[in-house]
Amino acid sequence: MTEAIRDHGAAPAPAGDGAFLSVRDLRVRFSTEDGTVRAVDGLSFDLARGRTLGIVGESGSGKSVTSLSVLGLHDPATSRTEGEILLDGQEVTGADERTLERLRGSKVAMIFQDSLSALSPYYTIGRQIAEPYRKHTGASRRAAWDRAVEMLGKVGIPRPGLRARDYPHQFSGGMRQRAMIAMALVCDPELLIADEPTTALDVTVQAQILDLLAELQQEFGSAIILITHDLGVVANTADDLLVMYAGRAVERGTVREVLRDPRHPYTWGLLGSMPRLESDVDEPLRPIPGTPPSLLDPPSGCPFHPRCPHTALVPRGRCASERPAMPEGRGAACHLSPADKRGIRFPGGVR
Ligand code: ADP
Ligand code: MG
Repeated sequence: MTEAIRDHGAAPAPAGDGAFLSVRDLRVRFSTEDGTVRAVDGLSFDLARGRTLGIVGESGSGKSVTSLSVLGLHDPATSRTEGEILLDGQEVTGADERTLERLRGSKVAMIFQDSLSALSPYYTIGRQIAEPYRKHTGASRRAAWDRAVEMLGKVGIPRPGLRARDYPHQFSGGMRQRAMIAMALVCDPELLIADEPTTALDVTVQAQILDLLAELQQEFGSAIILITHDLGVVANTADDLLVMYAGRAVERGTVREVLRDPRHPYTWGLLGSMPRLESDVDEPLRPIPGTPPSLLDPPSGCPFHPRCPHTALVPRGRCASERPAMPEGRGAACHLSPADKRGIRFPGGVR
């Protein structure tokens, strides 16, 4: 890892114009046998070119559903997507399949957690990188193959010319993840969405993959969304941070702002459950008590209130009855007053 916390000093891009990706009041619902799942419920964020946005939250908070929405990948037969997603000025929500296909190939690419299921077992790695390139650029087979080999070299596969002929099962987990990154980057996407790209990997390989993403971003200038349940991963890699809980944004800011001055009890909980690099190595990790709510029937008011130890500080039971507003830009969706927050020493707190 290079610096402890990356920070280019700039505030998050202003809402709407100027942003490469702009998401406004996104709502995604699934119809299931048990009822309607409100997987994403009123989410807004922006991402500028060249920046990395970390989206963090426990499993089930709507991170993957959000990223699939950006690619227009939800099945309209079983889901409903509302709100606005603008990608380089182009509407994604409501776009026809041809437009989406074009966007997916040229502007946005995605890396998934599970490279084994994302790669086909029947084709060589080289072919799986070359094919999308050929399709989108019209390059010859030969040129596309050369490009695939070049990309494998860029992501650090040794002897790429030889290894391109291998099938996925001949690659280790870390190498498959690299191959998937090569596949995602081969068409020079302007936005790369990495959904838990290192979760299945051991710590050393994790660090290598994250460094690789940062290097490739330098080279290609793309915007990155890095999705993870692990705040430690984004601390080292992202510029901006969006903390999600129960399908909503609960806190946002630059990584530096959020780590130095976290403002939502859920963020405090995530920080308290994360091993810290510096000080107080002896302090025990404290997982957040309780579990995320079912999105079939999310809690009223603040979705975190059933797990929040501080609701008694807020008068008139507002945490349970009133949904706290999420400010644009830096801030948190929480009813606690700034004075209340200053008085609370949260687990793992740095204040
Ligand atoms: P995360 O990526 O943060 O772990 P997800 O975005 O995968 O969470 O899921 C958010 C919620 O939406 C979960 O409750 C999940 O069960 C539900 N969900 C996701 N996809 C579907 C689907 N296709 N049908 C029904 N429910 C879904
Ligand atoms: Mg997920």
